[in-house]
Amino acid sequence: MRYRKLGKTGLMVSEIGFGTIPILKGNIPVLPDYYNLEEDEALLVMKAAFDRGCNLYDTAIVPEYGDAEIKLGKFAAYIGRERIVISDKARFFDGNGIYQAVQTSCEHLGTYADIYFVHQVDAEHEEEVFRKGGALDALSELKAEGKIRFAGVASHYYDILLRGAKDLRVDVLQGSGNLLERGMLERIQSEPLFLEKGILINKVYAAGILPAFFPVQTLLGNVLSYPISCALLGIGTIEQVEAAMNTDTISEELLSFEEVLSHLEKDYSPIPCDRCQRCDCPYGTEIHTLFRQYQYYFLGKDYWALRKLTMGIEDSVRWCQKCAKMPCITQCPRKIRIPDEIENIGKLTRRHPIWRK
Ligand code: SF4
Ligand code: SF4
Repeated sequence: MRYRKLGKTGLMVSEIGFGTIPILKGNIPVLPDYYNLEEDEALLVMKAAFDRGCNLYDTAIVPEYGDAEIKLGKFAAYIGRERIVISDKARFFDGNGIYQAVQTSCEHLGTYADIYFVHQVDAEHEEEVFRKGGALDALSELKAEGKIRFAGVASHYYDILLRGAKDLRVDVLQGSGNLLERGMLERIQSEPLFLEKGILINKVYAAGILPAFFPVQTLLGNVLSYPISCALLGIGTIEQVEAAMNTDTISEELLSFEEVLSHLEKDYSPIPCDRCQRCDCPYGTEIHTLFRQYQYYFLGKDYWALRKLTMGIEDSVRWCQKCAKMPCITQCPRKIRIPDEIENIGKLTRRHPIWRK
């Protein structure tokens, strides 16, 4: 295992981190592929990763990740608290909410969290998080009280991560990316402000989809070629630990985006969108998310993706039909004919039985 600096925190973290979603037990229907592990099984899997050099474990408050936070606390006590870095998070955006959440998480963990993230920050909650008295001020207070060591912002949105990169209260950022959805990674790489922060990246396997199309070592190699601190992998079995945590075999061969698309073209016609998030629709269609669901539909998450695709697609099609300026097309560096793609997605959802129910 190799180690990287976590921004300016002074911590060195393993370049592959352990995401704890798959070790949870509980009924969390939105989460794919978890294994309902008992506590002793979960500890064995976490230990297997530790034995291969992993020192960063990422979780979330109960019940966001089921009971994973409690299991991680038990693992920390078993292995030695100071030997691992605990990254934790909660989806509370106001100061009071996150303050209480950290207290609760510390009770579940039986110890402090090294990093605590405000989780899933989106445009709707951005101001609440960043404003005076919001979640970031509360995390600063918790740092001063010694209840956490570092404060973080986790988001799937580049603009919010960039705002976090500019904010002195933020030590660590958590975003998402993989060899197909690499637009955010490219932008992080070209913005020097991100060098000031630790960067954790999740969705390296794209919700478990990409290992069916590319070797795990290629997926990891591509993400780790960017200037990030750690690639987080959801891990639920010892076999998955063994497949991922052998960094000696990580591929040096970095696939270009065009090579990735041409590989996928054997199965379907991918939209050549890397989720850079530069397109902004004044009507409110979240283009990059819509295109992601389209890719996932063809890459094996058909039912799940189609349900998401059908939500609001007819509105998006209608908006495109009356949109005279089509600013999204000029904003897109890949010059994707975005309204045409949206029209095609509309046709796809109408063909499917779910749509007709
Ligand atoms: S063409 Fe469609 S997606 Fe593009 S800006 Fe107009 S309404 Fe939004
Ligand atoms: S459609 Fe174009 S601008 Fe929008 S996220 Fe995809 S690649 Fe970026």
